[in-house]
Amino acid sequence: MGYSRTSTICLIGTTGIVVTVEASVFKSASKASEAVRMSGLPDSVVNQAQTRVRAAMANSALSFPDKSVSVNFGPASLPTTGSAADLALAITIMCADDMVPGHRLEGAVLLAELGLDGSLRSVPGTLPALMAAHQAGLTTAIVSPDNANEAALVDGMTVLAPRNLSTLVAWLYGQAELDPALPAQTAAAPKIPDLADLRGQPMARRALEIAAAGGHHMFLLGPPGAGKTMLAERLPSILPPLSDAEAVEVTSLHSLRGRFTGGSAELIRHAPFEAPHHSMTMQALVGGGHGQVGPGSLALAHRGVLFMDEAPEWKRPVLDALRQPLESGEVQIRRANASIRYPAKVMLVLAANPCPCAPSKPHDCTCPARIKHRYLSRISRPLIDRIDLRVDLPSVPPSAILADQADAEPSGPVAKRVAKAREAAAARWAEAGEVWRLNSEVPGPALRSAKWRLPPGTTRTADELLMAERITARGYDRILKLAWTIGDLHRHDEPTAEDVTAASELRLGYTIT
Ligand SMILES: [Zn+2]
Repeated sequence: MGYSRTSTICLIGTTGIVVTVEASVFKSASKASEAVRMSGLPDSVVNQAQTRVRAAMANSALSFPDKSVSVNFGPASLPTTGSAADLALAITIMCADDMVPGHRLEGAVLLAELGLDGSLRSVPGTLPALMAAHQAGLTTAIVSPDNANEAALVDGMTVLAPRNLSTLVAWLYGQAELDPALPAQTAAAPKIPDLADLRGQPMARRALEIAAAGGHHMFLLGPPGAGKTMLAERLPSILPPLSDAEAVEVTSLHSLRGRFTGGSAELIRHAPFEAPHHSMTMQALVGGGHGQVGPGSLALAHRGVLFMDEAPEWKRPVLDALRQPLESGEVQIRRANASIRYPAKVMLVLAANPCPCAPSKPHDCTCPARIKHRYLSRISRPLIDRIDLRVDLPSVPPSAILADQADAEPSGPVAKRVAKAREAAAARWAEAGEVWRLNSEVPGPALRSAKWRLPPGTTRTADELLMAERITARGYDRILKLAWTIGDLHRHDEPTAEDVTAASELRLGYTIT
């Protein structure tokens, strides 16, 4: 009787858990028992692994044991999912059967799917999986060549990427060496669209800067060609770069969607930008659904921007599915045997045409007011209420596109002002012993509490709007948050009456008269 064990990783959300794969191989009296028995709650995918492992071994001139095989995945309570355990399963069985020596696998984690031809295939989530393996003290990763670059992002991990099972067996015997994979050479930083390309729209530029400084959600309303998409795409260019920890967190989410497979992988160091189409399903937006769970567009936009153009065209339940994650900053997906969470702290940018006919020149529109109103009311009130600021974009006259060069400030200086304002806010909340960093994170009641309440003379504009029922209580809180951000950009110790008025106008999307 032979016994062996190896390690692989199971991912629950972005959390990797080391799974021990044990196999014992023994001669059995009855032919009928010459099957593989698996325990430890492997799901159907792991059961299918048996088929792939048998074929991969046969096509690599390796014979599957002609004996009884018992396999156990532990800890048993884990929902072992995915095909990433294929390689560990094959190697553990071969080692248990004394077909190959296992001493070179000391401290190794095996993470690859097996093709029927014996090739090692890529798996999603290699980065978060190997981060967990490294934390658990494993020092060598054996992965597919398509995951090698990504695996090499984990500091202190020796990455070996054999093409197929035969190459790995030769290495286990010490007959061949494998060159450790190295991190990809740093390519030129990805080009993020710059504000210098944007002509006109001085109000919208200002709003974009304020949104970036406070992390506020925004709503852009304007005819086609007014520059809604151009504005939203340029928001990442004025957001601060990601810290090391944030870069790993964001890259891990993108890794779970297999975004680096086969290509060179680098940590994502800038705020991501996701622009899903309005035909997207709820599963694709928030993640989950049947079968393999993975992060949706919302989680992929974590620490960056989620841009939803033509907001009234989205299905209402899909839009409403955003409400809870926008409040909590995470997506929660309930499964039969696990609850999976993905972080999802995003800046939401909703955009809409003012009416369904979407004319490029406003006076071409013949839609009655009632149709326009009905069109915009497709976006639910509770979602709109969670948006801090609204910009009504006029259509850009051709003369402005040609002549308005003076307005075309590039992103660099704007990003500096945004960073300064963010620092001021973070320092203020930290000094007061609060946990918030961005003004958008401060709960409304806190801003209305005695500690942070502004004098009545300062908040008069907002107070009057509330009394006149032109804004809701939630809207009032949003104005206070915006006012703090505008104050931070102006380097005021606390918002002034002018800051509150400017915030009220941004909240409503028009000048208060
Ligand atoms: Zn119209």
